[in-house]
Amino acid sequence: MSIHHHLNDATLMAYAAGTLSESMNLVAATHLSLCPVCRQKVEQMETIGAGSLESEALLPVRTEALNQVMNLIDLEAEQTAPEPANDHIKSVFPSPLSQFVPKDYEDIPWRSTAPGLKSFVLPGIQSRSGTVRLFKIAPGVTIPEHGHGGTELTLVLKGSFSDEIGRFKAGDIADLDGDIDHQPIADSAEECICLIATEQPLRFKNMVPRIMQYFVGM
Ligand SMILES: [Zn+2]
Repeated sequence: MSIHHHLNDATLMAYAAGTLSESMNLVAATHLSLCPVCRQKVEQMETIGAGSLESEALLPVRTEALNQVMNLIDLEAEQTAPEPANDHIKSVFPSPLSQFVPKDYEDIPWRSTAPGLKSFVLPGIQSRSGTVRLFKIAPGVTIPEHGHGGTELTLVLKGSFSDEIGRFKAGDIADLDGDIDHQPIADSAEECICLIATEQPLRFKNMVPRIMQYFVGM
């Protein structure tokens, strides 16, 4: 899997500090399980964070504490290591997402949101300000243009989509703040499955979502 779109540094720092909301945290952690680049950054941030807690005057203690932190990071890395490649073939859902959904995405009780667009709200990961949702987008279908009240994280699990920012394939994550309006379109021959955490409900620009108009080849 070659990943081209990553979490922003601000999001990685919030993840390392444990201040992300539950919904954002799940999507960030799922990307991290697939992405060695972001994992390494988080490890560096955690090490720097732990080091800055120690006083310069207590150098021997500091070294010992640092070793402890490094051991913890190693332990955590082992625990959050992605499942073996064989499991990925059977399921598009990597850990830690896999514990919240059926193994096969066809077994999910999808709700039809619009023609060519199905969604599923993950139960149990709903905070006051946000939700985590899976979207299944048929080839050529567009999600209506929308802005965000807060941050939105979109992780592609299968297929691909394009928007004003670029092309996102399996493993890629779009880390958008509230100022960006975008209109993603599923742009490969297979359906696109993505995992989206929003801090606040999406704000669609039109009363009638434009998605109704988009069917390629029909
Ligand atoms: Zn990454």
